[in-house]
Amino acid sequence: MFLEPHFKGQRSGWIEVICGSMFSGKTEELIRRLKRAKIANQRVEIFKPRVDTRYDDVKVVSHDANYILSTPVASSSELLELTDGVNVVGVDEAQFFDEHLPEICQKLALRGIRVIVAGLDMDFRGKPFGPMPNLLAVAEYITKVHAICQHCGNLATHSYRLVTDGDTVVLGEKESYEPRCRTCYHMGNILDLQDKSSGSAQNKENAKERKLA
Ligand SMILES: [Zn+2]
Repeated sequence: MFLEPHFKGQRSGWIEVICGSMFSGKTEELIRRLKRAKIANQRVEIFKPRVDTRYDDVKVVSHDANYILSTPVASSSELLELTDGVNVVGVDEAQFFDEHLPEICQKLALRGIRVIVAGLDMDFRGKPFGPMPNLLAVAEYITKVHAICQHCGNLATHSYRLVTDGDTVVLGEKESYEPRCRTCYHMGNILDLQDKSSGSAQNKENAKERKLA
């Protein structure tokens, strides 16, 4: 189990990354850590990219409606100006930030700030997503969280996209994606067709419940 470092008064900060597929609980884990920092009387600020307007402009919202107030920013450089006197900086949906986010996070850490970043490690094509691979390289602590594969119940690492329109940046509406393990992800829509032909509606229902769990 990941133990959160929380040394008060330590000279240098550090970077933590929480990554995984959709429905893996990244934002829930980010909120959990930020709430604990608040309990420890740390000054906490949370940021998210302005592109993410799925639910609300000022809240980091997770799928179970557990939320925490956040500031939408247009670029990662704004974080440098908005974090004076802050002990802990949270960043949600980091995959949608610009390429400078890793160096900005390192600057914040050098100022003594604990930086906690949550984001999708892979896009729906299975490719490293935006600034995430570079963030993973420079972070002190990495937590990879998993969803449950909607087809077989194994741990899911991939976000399988159910819709086929051409937009490469589709925000995470539940109905557009499902979590899949490596094997089921690579079987692609063969699994959708099997579901339809074998009439496994009950399996699909069970899987839906697992996804929302
Ligand atoms: Zn699977």
